[in-house]
Amino acid sequence: MEAKKRDIPVVYLVVPCYNEEEVIEKSAQVLGDKLRRLMRDGQIAAGSKIMFVNDGSKDDTLMLLHRIAAKDALFSVVSLAGNYGHQSAILAGMMMARKYADAVVTIDADLQQDIEALDKFLASYMAGSEVVYGVRNDRHSDGVFKKGTATLYYKLMHLLGSKVITNHADYRLMSKKALEALAEYKETNLFLRGLIPTMGFPSDVVYFDVKAREAGHSKYTLSKMMTLALDGITSMSVRPLRTISALGFLVFAFSFVMSIISLVDWAMGNNVPGYTTTMIVSLLMGGVMLLSMGIIGEYIGKIYMETKHRPRYIIDTFVWREDAGSSDARSDTDK
Ligand code: UDP
Ligand code: MG
Repeated sequence: MEAKKRDIPVVYLVVPCYNEEEVIEKSAQVLGDKLRRLMRDGQIAAGSKIMFVNDGSKDDTLMLLHRIAAKDALFSVVSLAGNYGHQSAILAGMMMARKYADAVVTIDADLQQDIEALDKFLASYMAGSEVVYGVRNDRHSDGVFKKGTATLYYKLMHLLGSKVITNHADYRLMSKKALEALAEYKETNLFLRGLIPTMGFPSDVVYFDVKAREAGHSKYTLSKMMTLALDGITSMSVRPLRTISALGFLVFAFSFVMSIISLVDWAMGNNVPGYTTTMIVSLLMGGVMLLSMGIIGEYIGKIYMETKHRPRYIIDTFVWREDAGSSDARSDTDK
């Protein structure tokens, strides 16, 4: 890649938080230390910040976040009016942060994603990447179920023609330019991992190790995960609909042949047997039809939601303070 000269960026870390009271203080400390170090070493510009997005937490997360931000202007807090889900929460954070930052990195609150990889993200940004995807090295910290379903899911997504990057889970750097472009996408049905690669900016991949959750438990319930998986498919691909058409054609051809056979059978006088065949055919047809209607319904539901043009999130409160002088004046050793 030709060496583009870029200025040292103001970097914002966007951190979505949903019921993270057990881990949030530790996260603030770890992420804060890292950002301060980078600022001190001149790898990122002064004025870089951590922007927490409270996604309608029901525990004390918001109270803790406000306390953290009140003590230290390094931290900013966007609080959403309710629980809009991980994707909307990071979108809200990115859209807010792009006003201040040259580059935004989204990272989970649970410290599973190695923050030390940030150096590699920055190196790639300095070399000209507009988007840098964090890809996990392996999945040893996941259970068998999550690992298996994830692998299958990425396979299916690629089969359906999505450009989604395998084992990339929203740990990602985006430049201001890429974020401005992302802001032009108005869809409600949001699947960032599938959408961002289709934008086509110069991009890069950075590998990082996944750790076990620092504290608390996964906030991605099975139903949240399934919603994300379905959104991923229906927002990026109409291939399921095409498959239905193809299937419909095949079934039609099959029934046509079956009808001829039945007619010939009837003409030859043996029209009493065939109960089994009749049952099988009608059950099969019923099944195929219901499944197809379900898939079509899934898309109609999405169209319905899109036509409403509802806001994707509502911001309740926002805390952001200008750094008073140098950012390393405070050394937070108190606990
Ligand atoms: N999260 C969120 N809204 C939700 C669910 C999760 O903002 O409705 C956040 C959560 O606080 C965390 C990140 O999304 O920072 C990833 O969630 P989690 O670590 O629970 O998922 P996992 O790593 O188990 O896939
Ligand atoms: Mg996690």
